[in-house]
Amino acid sequence: MRGLEKAVFLLAHSALDPGFYRLYTIMMRNQWKRREDILKQQSLDLRRIVRFCYERVPFYRSHLNEANIKPADIRTIADLEKIPSINKTDILSNPKAFIPTGMRMNYHPAYTAGTTGMPMHFRISHNDYVLGVALSYRSWSAGGYTLGNRMAVLAGSALMPDSRYAILVKANEIARNVRFLSAYHMDDASLVSYLDQILSWNPSFLRGYPSAIYEFAKFIERESLELPKLKAIITTSEKLLPHVRMKVEEVFGTRVFDEYGANDGGISAVECDHQRIHVNTERSIMEIVDEDQRQIDVGTGKVLATSLKNYAMPFLRYELGDEAVATDEECPCGRGLPVIEEILGRTVSSFITPDGVLIHGWFFGWLMIDFGEAVRQYKITQVSRTKIEVLIVPGNGFDEIMIKKIRALAFAKCKDWKLDINIVDDIPISKSGKRIFIESKLKPE
Ligand SMILES: [Zn+2]
Repeated sequence: MRGLEKAVFLLAHSALDPGFYRLYTIMMRNQWKRREDILKQQSLDLRRIVRFCYERVPFYRSHLNEANIKPADIRTIADLEKIPSINKTDILSNPKAFIPTGMRMNYHPAYTAGTTGMPMHFRISHNDYVLGVALSYRSWSAGGYTLGNRMAVLAGSALMPDSRYAILVKANEIARNVRFLSAYHMDDASLVSYLDQILSWNPSFLRGYPSAIYEFAKFIERESLELPKLKAIITTSEKLLPHVRMKVEEVFGTRVFDEYGANDGGISAVECDHQRIHVNTERSIMEIVDEDQRQIDVGTGKVLATSLKNYAMPFLRYELGDEAVATDEECPCGRGLPVIEEILGRTVSSFITPDGVLIHGWFFGWLMIDFGEAVRQYKITQVSRTKIEVLIVPGNGFDEIMIKKIRALAFAKCKDWKLDINIVDDIPISKSGKRIFIESKLKPE
């Protein structure tokens, strides 16, 4: 059976791209190259894309001209400091200016709920997209994953195709040999059902939102239920807190490998078997910079992403809205991929219904994505078990129908929730300086 599953997996991936398997094997080797060779390759890719941006991408033509920079001025990663960074507002105010002119390109539409509560639609070139898939599998390999292994996923739409299209979900599950379990409806009955499905299907890996897996672990422990035999657990899409890691590892009796990804910047990083975070270097350059946009080797700074392969909509020095801690310490595992100390990523609260059903906060984040440019920014706060406060900064084409749609979708999830929707001009940053955009005021039980 498992041999057949692997065959289907490989077939589906060669349908995505005939060169997939070859690319994957090259990527598996790449991680062990010497650091200097990896950085040299990044510099070569950087020169190529900067030249392309200058010649083909309207935004960058004027951005580089304004800064008095010619493509020949950017030869190494250090040279990137010459280019002023951009943020999401720069992209959202004129997304078309980031699309290259005078050429047709095979691309995949993509979107992000964002670190900052600002949804964004963008494009990923086909080659970059396939590379991203190969790098995910390579990242998981540190936890023992090999192509076609069974994986249960406890998450929401960020990690699965649109759940309204059940056939697509099923096809995607079969092609990738994954099973999706929803983090958008977690009560005792659904957790029992999730555990039953895992025990009978017997996957090697569980992947998903750390807070959802944490609730799952606490439930299994409280009810003294049978444990699945997992090789590893992979957490993603929100900050993994130390007490969450401890509890999940203790209950499941296996290692957690934390993963960070920001698809809009082509950035991904994952822990290796020595618990160090390695940054993937093939799709983008990740810089950690100070207030003056200077690269730092040690300490906390903002994360900037520079596309190396996304020729369909490239970004140079794009502020992702996350912070990370740089380190000069090396990892004994032998991978040449750069190491960072920590990512101070987003925290996303879970919401609760009056009946005690947990609904992961990304439910609202992904609901907002559907409105495209119409929602410029949002903040969702659970104030009480029955009251959800929604702040929206409207964008192009926002109207009353969208407010009705938000109410209807939230009602379908929980009929007892009252939504207090307010249209505002601006959403202030919290006292800590962070943009917390999905938040619960309720104390965890
Ligand atoms: Zn390592």
